[in-house]
Amino acid sequence: MTVRVRIAPSPTGYFHVGVGRTALYNWLYARRHGGVFIVRSDDTDAERSTQGYQDDILEHLRWLGLDWDEGVEVGGPHEPYRQSLRLGRYHEVADAFLAAGQAYPCFCTPGELDERRKAAMAEGRPPGYDGRCRQIPPAGAAARREAGEAASVRFAVPRPGATDFTDAVRGEMHIGHDHVDDFVILRSDGSPTYQLASSVDDVDFGITHVIRGEDLLSSTPKHILITGAMGGDPITYAHLSLLMGPDGRKLSKRHGDTALRAYRERGIIPEAMVNYLALLGWSPGEDETVVPLGDMIERFDLGDVSRNPAVFDPAKLEWMNGVYLRALEADDFVARALPLVEADVGRALDDDELGRLAFVAPLVQERAKLLTEIAPQVRFLFVDEVSYDEAAWDKVMGAEGVDGVLAAAIDALSAVPEWDTASIETALRGMLEARELSARKGLQPLRVAISGSSISPPLFESMEALGRTRTLARLAGCAARL
Ligand code: GLU
Repeated sequence: MTVRVRIAPSPTGYFHVGVGRTALYNWLYARRHGGVFIVRSDDTDAERSTQGYQDDILEHLRWLGLDWDEGVEVGGPHEPYRQSLRLGRYHEVADAFLAAGQAYPCFCTPGELDERRKAAMAEGRPPGYDGRCRQIPPAGAAARREAGEAASVRFAVPRPGATDFTDAVRGEMHIGHDHVDDFVILRSDGSPTYQLASSVDDVDFGITHVIRGEDLLSSTPKHILITGAMGGDPITYAHLSLLMGPDGRKLSKRHGDTALRAYRERGIIPEAMVNYLALLGWSPGEDETVVPLGDMIERFDLGDVSRNPAVFDPAKLEWMNGVYLRALEADDFVARALPLVEADVGRALDDDELGRLAFVAPLVQERAKLLTEIAPQVRFLFVDEVSYDEAAWDKVMGAEGVDGVLAAAIDALSAVPEWDTASIETALRGMLEARELSARKGLQPLRVAISGSSISPPLFESMEALGRTRTLARLAGCAARL
């Protein structure tokens, strides 16, 4: 049997980190077993679904590197993979259920249903549908529908009965049908419910494993009933625990960003994101934290997925991002930083500037946690005029004797024979000694003078990258400004 898994995001919001984890686990499972990973679009909610959200979801699946074998945009044998384009098929299945007595029309109005629900709750009875319209003889029901009376269609849940299944994460499940009411599969306006559309798609697309969030666990008995009524092969279900914020409450906007986009824009790289998402509920054993993708594919198993809620902690994600950034090859690091640097400067860098960037990049790489930290630190290399960070200026340039330091540095640096880091360092250390200055007192003003900020790559290297002419001009410009 070929493993066939899917994700089925609804394009009603930006790609959520929780969906990212679900997508990753499905993808890992498919890759581990030589299976097929499918992306379908649960876009039946026409009012809330947008093309923008759909694009965001696919863009971020690609960003994570989770390629799909069938589905939206890539096509496949079960096209179309969008629920809004399969409405006829859902009606076909509902009609077959009606004809077989596996479903029945329900003429109860929303007002009536609401009243009965309230009464049931007041009396301490289950609030689900009471099955009233199930008693209407089929011929009578058909006549009423033909006469134009509005009706939804409900699935006739076998009673008495129970649904048993083995969840690949949570183990044995037993749900008595007292807890499953006759649920709606077609609304009175003819639109299919999630229960119907999702189950029909899973059967039609030959899905073997449904790996999804625990919030959908209560729907699973309904999906199993529909699958059985369609004569579909049994599907294995795996429900992933919900994500929590660091405070132990369900992850929500209250905790900060939940959209993958926000983390990408903040400078998280996809490899780190994938690694971090993978460990939200799955552990490869031991206390491993940094797990290369190839290892994940080899070792991923639903049996090792935890039933306990996992905590999504942006601080840990940033830590992991730093680990991944430092591990990048130097060229790769520059290639990823370049678009951000060019966007920051507002133009493309020329060859000479690219050389300067390549020269300082490893020095930034050693300390970086986020890709977005780089551009502000190297900006001084690519602008004609640095803009001075006000706080840095006030703190460093306001100190006594700074004008003397700048003048002495200009003297020392003008005499440097070869403009390289070692010679610059020798000259400036000589200057510090002659003036009996600490490195902090003597060098911080130079750093602010050339870079505009007290946070920059190491000073001597920064000066080499900037070049003698520009370095001297900036020191002189600062001296004049004091
Ligand atoms: N469309 C559902 C959602 O976005 C997922 C359905 C499923 O995985 O069965 O929550």
